[in-house]
Amino acid sequence: MTYMARHGLTRARPAELVPGTLSVITARMDYLPRQTPSPSTDWAQSELQRLQQSTQAVVSVYARGRDYHKVMRQRLQQLAEKLQAFAGASGFRVFTDSAPVLEAELAVRSGLGWRGKHTLVLHRDAGSFFFLGEIFVDIALEPTAMGEAHCGTCDACIRVCPSQAIIAPYQLDARRCISYLTIEHAGSIPEELRPLMGNRIYGCDDCQLVCPWNKYAKRSALPDFDERHGLGASSLWQLLQWDEDSFLRLTEGSAIRRIGHVRWLRNLAVATGNALRHNLGAAEQSALRQALQRWQDHPSEVVREHIAWALS
Ligand code: SF4
Ligand code: SF4
Repeated sequence: MTYMARHGLTRARPAELVPGTLSVITARMDYLPRQTPSPSTDWAQSELQRLQQSTQAVVSVYARGRDYHKVMRQRLQQLAEKLQAFAGASGFRVFTDSAPVLEAELAVRSGLGWRGKHTLVLHRDAGSFFFLGEIFVDIALEPTAMGEAHCGTCDACIRVCPSQAIIAPYQLDARRCISYLTIEHAGSIPEELRPLMGNRIYGCDDCQLVCPWNKYAKRSALPDFDERHGLGASSLWQLLQWDEDSFLRLTEGSAIRRIGHVRWLRNLAVATGNALRHNLGAAEQSALRQALQRWQDHPSEVVREHIAWALS
């Protein structure tokens, strides 16, 4: 996460990032897949149950469809062009999940929600299953009011976190967070954290799944976030069959592709090692061990080391 230091205070000063910026328009885009059953609490329960099925391979909900960076950026661009024609802004730039923008803070200050104790932004009408985006413009707009926080005495997200990454309300130790470890972190995953990752192979939704406000989470109106290639119900064994060509083909247009096949196999190795600690039947044990053994001579030291750990 060296980008934090690299971009320094530019992150908090939009006009330094895009000279001439006078206002920032913030937007949210809901991403629950269109097929998500209603009410969404039933859906959250079934996601939580799947985390208990050790041989399932759990991918975070946001990453099961098309890469949101592309979807969000295109739509913000269209919106910005309309605003430009309508309001006469001469300059604008759109961002979504870009390193130099403090987008959660901008969202909170502009009334898109409040910062939950898990540090994500949430809204009374939409929970937290949404992406954020911004349009920097060179016209002075009337600021919208900051919203109020509504976590109250709840601490469900802190209690559920499998790796105790939420070290205090509103404080996240990213080095322990499974989202960070499975996506951003390169190289070896600290051994003491591996058992805590369970069957989460890309991201982690636990702190959102237990949040009471997510009964108001909204389904996307777009087909883009529909699940692809059965990623909402795949097993570890199935995904261990993907060689690099399959990985690149099947994750085309998906955010998952960014982590590459090496991190993908690393994460699968950790989850499969965790599954093998469970009381599996002999046939299931043997199939999973064989699926791991296929990768034990992989050219990547990271993959070899994690496969060896899983097999041991
Ligand atoms: S994403 Fe998972 S690991 Fe990270 S803080 Fe939330 S529950 Fe904890
Ligand atoms: S689970 Fe509770 S404490 Fe955590 S963000 Fe939701 S309301 Fe706030």
